[in-house]
Amino acid sequence: MIVRTAMKVQQPKPPASQKSEAAFEAAKAVLAGGVNSPVRAFGAVGGTPRFISKAKGAVLIDADGNNYIDYVGSWGPMILGHAEERVAAAASKALGKGWSFGAPTEAETRLAEQIIADIPSIERIRFVNSGTEATMSAIRLARGFTGRDLIVKCEGCYHGHADALLVKGGSGLATFGTPSSAGVPAAATSNTLVVPYNDKDEATRVFAEHGGKIAALLVEPVAGNMGCVPPLEGYLSHLRGLCDQHGALLIFDEVMTGYRVHIGGAQGLYGVCPDLTCLGKIIGGGFPVGAYGGRAEIMAKLSPEGPVYQAGTLSGNPLAMAAGLATVQALHDAGVYEKLEAQSQKLAEGLAAAAAKAGVTVVQNRVGSMMTVFFQQGPVVNWTTAAQSDTDRYARFFHAMLARGVYLPPSQYEAFFVSLAHADEQIEATIEAAREAFAGLVA
Ligand SMILES: *Cc1c(COP(=O)(O)O)cnc(C)c1O
Repeated sequence: MIVRTAMKVQQPKPPASQKSEAAFEAAKAVLAGGVNSPVRAFGAVGGTPRFISKAKGAVLIDADGNNYIDYVGSWGPMILGHAEERVAAAASKALGKGWSFGAPTEAETRLAEQIIADIPSIERIRFVNSGTEATMSAIRLARGFTGRDLIVKCEGCYHGHADALLVKGGSGLATFGTPSSAGVPAAATSNTLVVPYNDKDEATRVFAEHGGKIAALLVEPVAGNMGCVPPLEGYLSHLRGLCDQHGALLIFDEVMTGYRVHIGGAQGLYGVCPDLTCLGKIIGGGFPVGAYGGRAEIMAKLSPEGPVYQAGTLSGNPLAMAAGLATVQALHDAGVYEKLEAQSQKLAEGLAAAAAKAGVTVVQNRVGSMMTVFFQQGPVVNWTTAAQSDTDRYARFFHAMLARGVYLPPSQYEAFFVSLAHADEQIEATIEAAREAFAGLVA
């Protein structure tokens, strides 16, 4: 075993990538940066992004015909695996009936009923087209409902690219945010306060100082966009208490965690209910979708019932609703979350053992089927600690895995996702690849 591993490490076989390279060149001539979402460009790990030609189950196939075991899963939506038959059938059936009417359909009501049955705090919901739209609209609604302007967010949490949320904070303390992107006016972030994640004291302090002006605190209940960072014991209930005490709304951004960590989202897993919840990703089954929902009294403030305006030409699109409903219904099959947990645990343990054997220091964070291997000693509990990771080492690991047919997120700060299509032999092949990849890092 050891001898074989050592031999393989010396002979990493570079997979063919000429077609992806040509495709990337052609894309760069017409698309900004060659991609429609920055992380796809492999900027954080270097090299050429693989252009995907098709996918089935847990496997992606690129333009050069290489197969990869996929742990990105379209960044979360593909929890059943790619091109899953029930979802394909539901979307095809919807397609055959026409695909956009600009008028209400019963498909929207069906998916809404299912989500309301599953996610504890949602009584009414509104569908939009992306997670970005969901958080942007939830903030507007929270401001409209409370009559207050300030928003609190956590450093390292990502809530899409709305101006007010593209902020960076200051060195682990509660501060007013400054724009983290060019093109965002300081005025657009001047009502956004930034606090460190998992820090009860700083959250308490910001509410003590500004409580009467805070409309909402927005948080990823399990952070997934600085790598996977679970909430510390009691953190979410502390935030719930602060919001109650100061008359602010608690908004959970469950765009990633909704149906991922539990059928009831992170709120179902941890037993803490927000006032508003943002959803996306899984609830569209891989089609463009987002949603926000919560207490009926708050949702009643939305146009056309109330004064808070929000609209969408393609919102509640019939294909997205059908694919989303089929996906969510499939997650009600017996044993689904147990299976995700078992496969994810097997993967996590295998990766930890492989790293230990090679003498590579890593720390893993995992909640069910979302996890991150941080190249550092940890613990990773917030952005300051996450940022201490050795991203160059992650990039080398990423490419060593890619060369061995495993497609990991092309950034240290994105979570791996395991799907229901990941079979035992694929998990085992991944661990075997990791043994070689870790060994190669210290060779
Ligand atoms: C992906 C994500 C978003 C943004 O969703 P888009 O559909 O990409 O706009 C927002 N919040 C969280 C927690 C996410 O993971």
